[in-house]
Amino acid sequence: MAAFNILVLPGDGIGTEVMAEVERLIDWFNGQGIARFEVERGLVGGAAYDAHGEAISEETMAHALASDAVMFGAVGGPKWDGVPYDKRPEAALLRLRKDLGLFANLRPAICYPALADASTLKRELVEGLDILIVRELTGGVYFGEPKEIVDLGNGQKRAVDTQVYQTYEIERIARVAFELARTRRNKVTSSDKKNVMKSGVLWDEVVRDLHRRDYADVQFEHILADNCGMQLVRAPKQFDVIVTDNLFGDMLSDVAAMLTGSLGMLPSASLGAPDEKTGRRKSMYEPVHGSAPDIAGKGIANPIATIASFGMALRYSFGLGEWADKLDVAIANVLDQGLRTRDIMQPGMREVSTTQMGEAIARELAALGG
Ligand code: NAD
Repeated sequence: MAAFNILVLPGDGIGTEVMAEVERLIDWFNGQGIARFEVERGLVGGAAYDAHGEAISEETMAHALASDAVMFGAVGGPKWDGVPYDKRPEAALLRLRKDLGLFANLRPAICYPALADASTLKRELVEGLDILIVRELTGGVYFGEPKEIVDLGNGQKRAVDTQVYQTYEIERIARVAFELARTRRNKVTSSDKKNVMKSGVLWDEVVRDLHRRDYADVQFEHILADNCGMQLVRAPKQFDVIVTDNLFGDMLSDVAAMLTGSLGMLPSASLGAPDEKTGRRKSMYEPVHGSAPDIAGKGIANPIATIASFGMALRYSFGLGEWADKLDVAIANVLDQGLRTRDIMQPGMREVSTTQMGEAIARELAALGG
């Protein structure tokens, strides 16, 4: 039986509530003997700041580096608004991404049929939607130098951000996209602004070259990033995997996310390079939402984003794709049965708590697995 180390970092606010529902599933997998998950727990964000004066301790970082996957809840809240910038709760997230070398951010946008009416788009446009945005996470204009505001001394200032990409950065993210497409509907759309940006010209050249060399079996198309935004709200089901840079990925993944309804439904994964010896990638899985201080402690948070993030860990870190599929079906079935947390509540449905939703999904998974 395969054994994996998971570092569980619930964080702050609803992070602890939704992560408890993932721990329920981890216990179930262990109990069934499907895999052996060794779980370490750690503090992160405001909780870590209160305990150690840092958003993440060196000891927890060491555990993260030694783990097969990090499950991250959410961090932050008004309590820590006044802490120094480099110690604020979100600093933990940036440190984890940087030290684990998590260059590939995967954001699926899946529309469960039961929730199609919660989307701002028409049901027929989003029902059954299943697309994946692969965003480059550690390069581009958010990190490029120079990055400054210069006082020109004549009453004017000049602000500069620099968009920089090297061949290897583009190639490794494109490789992730092509590999993932092969496990899905086998299509990659690469998005940039090669019509006006040199970095876009190189992006396109490198992705096309890689496609020709190693992934000619995958259907490939190019789209300008502005058109991509438009197509995502016009006809989102035309896409399978979209690969794009840090800036465009930030925007396009938020557009895609909103096709599916609530923030409480959106999972994500961040992956690093495969280890040369084991082939395993460093990885972190987290819901897209934050710590939701407005509802923390009330037991009403939707745990589905975090549970679906664990589903991505089953698929991408633990080689348990079949169980990831079952977990997706379990979530869809529970929604079909009319169970809803408050954020996705609809007339005629039954409102349930965070725990009741987690229990229902676990029960459904057990029924599917039996
Ligand atoms: P948020 O995502 O925490 O909440 C936005 C709104 O969505 C709130 O009304 C909240 O109640 C609702 N919501 C979010 N997740 C939900 C869920 N699972 N179930 C039901 N409702 C849900 O964003 P915010 O309010 O802008 O930020 C709150 C704190 O979280 C801030 O300190 C912010 O910096 C932090 N934050 C952290 C992360 C992270 O840890 N990755 C991401 C975003 C924001």
